[in-house]
Amino acid sequence: MSTDAQSGEDAGVEPEPEESEGPPMPQSTSETPSYDGEFDAIVVGAGLAGSAAALTMAEEGLDVIMLERGNSPGTKNVFGGIMFTPRIRELTDFEDAPKQRFVAQKTFSMLSEEGDATEVSMQPAAWKEEPHNDSWMVLRGDFDEWFAEQAVDAGATLITETTVTDLVREKGAIAGVETDRPDGRLHAPTVVLAEGANSLVSEGAGLAESQQRTDVAVSAKEVRKYDRETIEDRFHLTDEEGAAMHYFGDGAVGDAVGGGFIYTNKRTLSIGVVYSIEDAVHDERSPDEVLDDFKSHPAVAPLVTGGRMIEYSAHAIPEGGPDAMPDLVHDGAVITGDAAGLVLNNGLHLEGTNMAVESGYQAGKAVADAVASGRTDAAALSAYEEAMNDSWVIDNLNHYGWFLDAAAEDKEFLFDDLPRAIADAETDYFRMNDEPKTRHTKSARKRLVGAMGGYLGAAKKAWKYRKLFS
Ligand SMILES: Cc1cc2nc3c(=O)[nH]c(=O)nc-3n(C[C@H](O)[C@H](O)[C@H](O)COP(=O)(O)OP(=O)(O)OC[C@H]3O[C@@H](n4cnc5c(N)ncnc54)[C@H](O)[C@@H]3O)c2cc1C
Repeated sequence: MSTDAQSGEDAGVEPEPEESEGPPMPQSTSETPSYDGEFDAIVVGAGLAGSAAALTMAEEGLDVIMLERGNSPGTKNVFGGIMFTPRIRELTDFEDAPKQRFVAQKTFSMLSEEGDATEVSMQPAAWKEEPHNDSWMVLRGDFDEWFAEQAVDAGATLITETTVTDLVREKGAIAGVETDRPDGRLHAPTVVLAEGANSLVSEGAGLAESQQRTDVAVSAKEVRKYDRETIEDRFHLTDEEGAAMHYFGDGAVGDAVGGGFIYTNKRTLSIGVVYSIEDAVHDERSPDEVLDDFKSHPAVAPLVTGGRMIEYSAHAIPEGGPDAMPDLVHDGAVITGDAAGLVLNNGLHLEGTNMAVESGYQAGKAVADAVASGRTDAAALSAYEEAMNDSWVIDNLNHYGWFLDAAAEDKEFLFDDLPRAIADAETDYFRMNDEPKTRHTKSARKRLVGAMGGYLGAAKKAWKYRKLFS
């Protein structure tokens, strides 16, 4: 899976930066300072989990170095996206953060391949009040850079354009990292792995297994630029209000478990599809073709027409749930965020940002305590795993861990039969002719109940999916 640059809203097409010299990496020469062994903790990746960990550790008084492969934090990050902000609001002066719009309205639409659409739309008044349900559209290029700056302001050192290639082991414990810089080996008693979904360093070092393709989703996303009025008129928005639109059914991503989305930024739309890699390998279409088909659905096309594409990206999303998570704690290392598989996708919620920040924060606290105790083996770092097990993060992952398997089992029903039946039932129910309405109602009911396998089938489905609402 490749990642492309996330450009700022006012930027034009911003090509992926070529390999460059970048800022000087600390080297063991008399001219440059040697940071080797100077730090209590090395953070791999300046995404959400990495910056949360670095900020927390720096505030606890640790000497922290954060290594990021992009030319600045966020340039390699791909995102839908809604940033869920409860913890980040506590950790930072969040009012200063570069945000786009808060989520004022959410819609869930069922699309059929034939062009039907059924939409449920919600706009609770409470979402328009501070803190806006802690749900903000952001552009990761801007946001991650700002978040990393908060860690730097707290005392962390950030080195960009530096890829960690391996972990250093001494006496069986992780004791530092290798980087792609000459003399790029750095030693420290702890390493926080926050490298995101493509967790090559964790996997290469044997701390995590390669993800099964059933446990990973692929996404294709483009960002299109419009003028602000076009977006506000099209989606009925004012000021900082934003819309998060989610789409399911075979009109969204064909015969696959997944969906499409549109998120409104100030002057751009993020438009994308996310679906199981297992389905992607059986689909004749490439992810960008699936995205094109989604954009041309009659219910979607008028919302995304025009504009100018300023970014295209594809990325993986780990969604294997608790069963696919690696051990979070190792001798000298902890794993956080997407690298630890901390993403919830149950069709109604797609949440990874809050889990990444929470895990970085909890990891940062545990590392600070371990360093203060003079021991950084797995037992000393176990407070991180305990805090996560006690947290809403693991609770949510456990609660919804069954969902994607169930959706895969019922793929044909959920993504094909149901959208068709709902559209046919609507057509019947509201039919305008000289028949009595009772006949329309009966016909609509028959279509819906028939698609669910009769009343018994409907009861079984309700029981199977009850945990979505309990
Ligand atoms: C299309 C899409 C839509 C999404 N939508 C949402 C949404 O709406 N809401 C939500 O909450 N979540 C969403 N997610 C999930 C969310 O983006 C992630 O859960 C979150 O970004 C994880 O943060 P992280 O810090 O763990 O990893 P990342 O944000 O991926 O950060 C990892 C960082 O590590 C760096 N890195 C990687 N390897 C190395 C290395 N070897 N050396 C140095 N640096 C390295 C990367 O460049 C990157 O900066 C979405 C994901 C995708 C792909």
